[in-house]
Amino acid sequence: MTTGIATVGVVGAGQMGSGIAYAAALGGYDVVLYDLSADRTEKGLATVVKSFDRQIAAGNLSGADKDAALARIRVATEVEALAPADLVIEAATEDEGVKRRIYGAICPSLKPSAILASNTSSISITRLAAATDRPERFLGIHFMNPVPVMKLVELVRGIATDDETFEEAKRFVDTLGKVMTVSEDFPAFIVNRILVPMINEAVYTLYEGVGSVESIDTSMKLGANHPMGPLQLADFIGLDTCLSIMQVLHDGLSDSKYRPCPLLVKYVEAGWLGRKTGRGFYDYRGETPVPTR
Ligand code: NAD
Repeated sequence: MTTGIATVGVVGAGQMGSGIAYAAALGGYDVVLYDLSADRTEKGLATVVKSFDRQIAAGNLSGADKDAALARIRVATEVEALAPADLVIEAATEDEGVKRRIYGAICPSLKPSAILASNTSSISITRLAAATDRPERFLGIHFMNPVPVMKLVELVRGIATDDETFEEAKRFVDTLGKVMTVSEDFPAFIVNRILVPMINEAVYTLYEGVGSVESIDTSMKLGANHPMGPLQLADFIGLDTCLSIMQVLHDGLSDSKYRPCPLLVKYVEAGWLGRKTGRGFYDYRGETPVPTR
């Protein structure tokens, strides 16, 4: 299957943006990886290199694959660098205000025909689309973390998304070797509608003293056969991202069952956001992760 896409722009070089850049470059696309500072794009690129090395060590890729893919990635801190992109995937911080400001800043530089997608975990695609100059060419392309190993991509159509855009996005996902599911545009879509309330409940279980970090994670690993405990997973996703998904569910569905756990709020207030800041429900600064409660 082929697409009319040659260049993919990725906005945000964090955990997800660097993973998307990896997948797109490996899929044969030219990639422009954009973030606010050279510091962040360099960090993003280093993550991409690490992902390639991990796949080479696992015997899934060759050094030549890595070199060819890396040669297709360019980093940028100027929005004008996104001008050649046929598809731009925004993977910036999970904050509607931030995303709206980004669309305002980048749209004037994009080709009128470019498809704009958000990797948002939870925010309304229809509402984000309405903040752009191209709601019909806007949709949700939601990759899972870590992108290099996770097979699934959720596609989310906004009310205005046209058929051509949706079909092109499906072909794009297919060329990356990922499996696609379609979700309607409701808060947090399918995976996070189910997953993040479970994580929030695990934080409540900790908050109410039902179990320690270790007993909660061990219970779910050995008792429910989850590959990772929910608190370990929360640290992996980022506690700020988990909190904002709960807030979107709470606001969007107006149901108190989605209220974010106060302890999750506290961790975010402390800046203990999980792996990416070195501390969350576990402390990652030493050799092995140590529970922080
Ligand atoms: P992150 O904090 O690792 O990275 C966010 C990046 O966005 C940072 O590098 C930041 O500098 C950049 N950014 C912020 N404002 C910007 C701006 N104005 N212009 C350009 N770049 C800007 O976050 P993440 O975990 O990679 O999440 C990114 C998106 O992907 C969010 O929408 C999140 O909901 C979604 N997502 C996250 C996960 C996950 O498990 N973490 C999974 C699927 C989807």
